[in-house]
Amino acid sequence: MIRISQLKIRTGHTEEALVKKLLQLLRIKKEELLSYEIRRQSLDARKKPDIFYVYTIDVSVKREETVFKGATKKKGQADISICREKPYRFPEAGKETLPMRPVVVGSGPAGLFCAYFLAEAGYRPIVIEQGAPVRDRQKDVERFWEEGILNPNSNVQFGEGGAGAFSDGKLNTLVKDTDGRIRKVLEIFAAHGAPKEILYVNKPHIGTDILIGVVESMRNKMISLGAEFRFHTKMTDIITDAAASRLCGIQVQDLKEAGGEPVRLDTELLVLAPGHSARDTFRMLYELKIPMEAKSFAVGVRAEHPQSLINMSQYGMTEPGELGAASYKLTEKLCSGRGIYSFCMCPGGYVVNASSEEGRLAVNGMSYHARDSRNANSAIVVTVTPEDFGDEHPLAGIEFQQQLEEAAYQAGKGRIPVQRYGDFKDGHVGDGKGPQPCMKGAYTFTDLHSALPEFLSQSIIEGMEKFNAKISGFSSPDTLLSAVESRTSSPVRIVRGNALESTLAGLYPCGEGAGYAGGITSAAVDGIKTAEAIRRKYASFDNC
Ligand code: FAD
Repeated sequence: MIRISQLKIRTGHTEEALVKKLLQLLRIKKEELLSYEIRRQSLDARKKPDIFYVYTIDVSVKREETVFKGATKKKGQADISICREKPYRFPEAGKETLPMRPVVVGSGPAGLFCAYFLAEAGYRPIVIEQGAPVRDRQKDVERFWEEGILNPNSNVQFGEGGAGAFSDGKLNTLVKDTDGRIRKVLEIFAAHGAPKEILYVNKPHIGTDILIGVVESMRNKMISLGAEFRFHTKMTDIITDAAASRLCGIQVQDLKEAGGEPVRLDTELLVLAPGHSARDTFRMLYELKIPMEAKSFAVGVRAEHPQSLINMSQYGMTEPGELGAASYKLTEKLCSGRGIYSFCMCPGGYVVNASSEEGRLAVNGMSYHARDSRNANSAIVVTVTPEDFGDEHPLAGIEFQQQLEEAAYQAGKGRIPVQRYGDFKDGHVGDGKGPQPCMKGAYTFTDLHSALPEFLSQSIIEGMEKFNAKISGFSSPDTLLSAVESRTSSPVRIVRGNALESTLAGLYPCGEGAGYAGGITSAAVDGIKTAEAIRRKYASFDNC
């Protein structure tokens, strides 16, 4: 296979134009081209509004060696090499016996991908999820947004698909794909209904509307391989041997049965992938003395701008057609030394009420695949470290989040509190007239200062003004802010060793909640790594 990289061609091109370019670069006739696959497509918008795609393409040709030599004799417009990419390989099975089926707690990307690989390798995992299956969960979420009735076990954070199910479905990650795991994650998503372009576009995204079907399809495949899913079931305790050194089982409670008692589920292997919002689960682990530590995360607000403003800044046009709604990524250092950055940017998206606890309010962002709402939104967040939590307790970050969420709930009287940036900066409450937010969940205009600690308000104002130098209009008075963005990543880390196991033998902390991932793709990759660690240790078996 010959790989052509840095192939630049103006946007709006036809397939014929692309093939013509390939033939020119390789100096071959059409009959000699067997097939080609786009491996990467990014944008070069440095001369906006004249915008180019930059491709990496793998090409299969007749007489590969001769063609390669001929094409590389003279320096061309693109880089040409022989592709030596190694496909992803799941490791060989270890020798130890696993006497009972493994249990995976949590069906977010980390738990789902771990269970997927375990199921494919014949381990028949049991997946425990406190929330509803994804279609029922969708009804719970819509009821919350429309009627304000929260189901604390099945909401934007909890339920099949995890926190990422009601999201923009952005799949890009800063992690390098040296072992092919990221490619594998994208291939699995695509095999279960995600658009095929996620395999090559620079910033792949799925969108809530498509993700729901993808998650359902992955579950059905796992069930066909012998996996079992128990929804509306919460792990309430971990059972260990007398020395508290080895896992023997867990207690699970059927949440559909009002007043039902937890029952024991025996297992010697537990993958714990609870996500960053499983606060009661973290407390239970702390009581059990499972090694945990507080970690830094980030808090702030969601900012909304007209999508046309972002398109103009990034592409030099308000209606970018096939390029789709533009995105951005901003980062700055504040006078205080703290970092401020944009996070989880949702082009053409919605700000959502992403709360999971009564009396507390958290916001986040989502979009549909078309990314066609009139507003772009993004979290504007400031780094906070354990020193900000006012306590050295491993769970102090959770308390810190909860205080912020309580203040946001009170500021909006249960609705999402919103304020125009101009009013926020000038210290006026404002009257709510003017452009409105694109929001899922009830909102009200109010004073956000009452919801945020002073250092955070001042950091946001300083950051917004700095970002305006990068995107003109970013700090315009009509920019809409909403609070509070508090669930950016996990406030704790559940410590694990090199073989990904806790000091409690048989316990594998995994994904974002355990502190080893941030975002859908990296959580999925951590799920795969955990399945690999289990595979290396235990032989697969038929009768478990
Ligand atoms: P989670 O997805 O949080 O899943 C954990 C699951 O465990 C939950 O379903 C929970 O109910 C279950 N659970 C917890 N405790 C128990 C228990 N005791 N018993 C039974 N079940 C339990 N990331 C991106 O990369 N791109 C995006 O576009 C994006 N958008 C987002 C939008 C929103 C609204 C939100 C909330 C998050 C978004 N994220 C996004 C972040 C992303 O969703 C998370 O990083 C990712 O889901 C973490 O995966 P996880 O599997 O580790 O945990």
